[in-house]
Amino acid sequence: MATELYLKHTEAESVPRSALTVNPAKTCQPIGAMYAALGVHNCLPHSHGSQGCCSYHRSALTRHYKEPVMAATSSFTEGASVFGGQANLLQAFNTIFSLYDPQIIAVHTTCLSETIGDDIPQIIGKAVAEGKIPAGRFVLHASTPSYVGSHVTGFANMTKAFIDYFAEKTGKSTDKVAVFPGWVEPSDMAEIKRMLEAMGVPYTLLPDTSGVLDTPMSGTYEMYPEGGTKLDDIRRLGDAKGAIGLGSYCSGPAAKLLDTKCRVPTEILDLPIGLAATDRFIDTLRRVAGVAVSDQIIKERGRLLDMMADMHQYTYGKTVALAGDPDQLCSLAEFLKDLDMKVKYVVTGTPGKAYEARLTELIGEAEEGDWRGAPGDLFALHQKMKQAPVDLLIANTYGKYIARDEDVPFVRFGFPILDRVGHADFPYVGYRGALRIMEKILNALMDRQDRDAPNERFELVM
Ligand code: SF4
Repeated sequence: MATELYLKHTEAESVPRSALTVNPAKTCQPIGAMYAALGVHNCLPHSHGSQGCCSYHRSALTRHYKEPVMAATSSFTEGASVFGGQANLLQAFNTIFSLYDPQIIAVHTTCLSETIGDDIPQIIGKAVAEGKIPAGRFVLHASTPSYVGSHVTGFANMTKAFIDYFAEKTGKSTDKVAVFPGWVEPSDMAEIKRMLEAMGVPYTLLPDTSGVLDTPMSGTYEMYPEGGTKLDDIRRLGDAKGAIGLGSYCSGPAAKLLDTKCRVPTEILDLPIGLAATDRFIDTLRRVAGVAVSDQIIKERGRLLDMMADMHQYTYGKTVALAGDPDQLCSLAEFLKDLDMKVKYVVTGTPGKAYEARLTELIGEAEEGDWRGAPGDLFALHQKMKQAPVDLLIANTYGKYIARDEDVPFVRFGFPILDRVGHADFPYVGYRGALRIMEKILNALMDRQDRDAPNERFELVM
């Protein structure tokens, strides 16, 4: 009831706002850091801050992935908030290694510990000097204050930290390609690995949440599931034949650091979402690994093309509003353009000049009446849709309120998705993932066509 009243009070008229966000199109840095750390085998994320932050971050990930998400916390109280959290973190190392026995503790900070100014490398150094880190066990950290950036930044920072702490160059090549998949679903990471294997490319994926956040019910609880990138493989990334960072925002910092630190030749691409972005990924793999494109991949591409041609009359000219994160938005917008849809509104809470420039490169300049909110929020998007409606909204779960109020077909895409399932199990990336995106878009549009059709136009065959 409250939501309905609130939504009905969203005014179409936009009032300029510069210091107020309403319904943000992002969430906080540590959630991304936690997700990235979970993609490393035998690694326990640790939140250096209050219990409340850690509980929120764990619950956000648990609700999205429908899996228990483990993380420890420094449990700040008033004392730590005033005097700093060193004592809490040192105690936490003792407790975690003796009770939970991870190989790695991945510490990320919160707004509170960043504002206090805790020096995490100094605290880790002290723990090492005092023998609080057992032999063969490791601690790394990433700074993730939430008043800067978003969950995307936190993911990028933690992925980069693994390179910073562990990647080494020995001079003995592994002949592997290092692939940074970016913030995609566990199902997407599994799909990227399947494509690499179909191409015959030896690889290391970092991070890799497949086999961690999509585990089967076995009857036995595993605190550290069998998935995740192994520490030895992360160390050997410095000897990779080449590196590919997928998504400049999520993977760019780690991929660039691998290049500068270990001189691994690196290419940064768009996330392989949709036809053209997947083509670029496959072509780069072919060049970097020195392999031919396999028949299997060629057939998958052909099936996607077939669907695009068969269903073109349903997508042609449809207007779309998008909300999400920069890496996903760029590739998705390009795919929608390839489907001859018209991307009218795009909003992200993680702005940046690189994102704006790339989006323009991929789909062209905004036309009159279009809106590219960077930064922007869902409230502003709602207002735009009131001013000039669109045929389809693609956003995370929070878009459902706008879709209901505006009575517009809605496809859930991005993070978080709290009220539907499947995203952890069925991929969006690659040619097969693009088929799934098309399925979702077409079903949403056709459901609406059926719902609104008068009896004489209610067709059995679309
Ligand atoms: S925004 Fe800051 S204070 Fe709030 S949950 Fe995130 S880290 Fe904690």
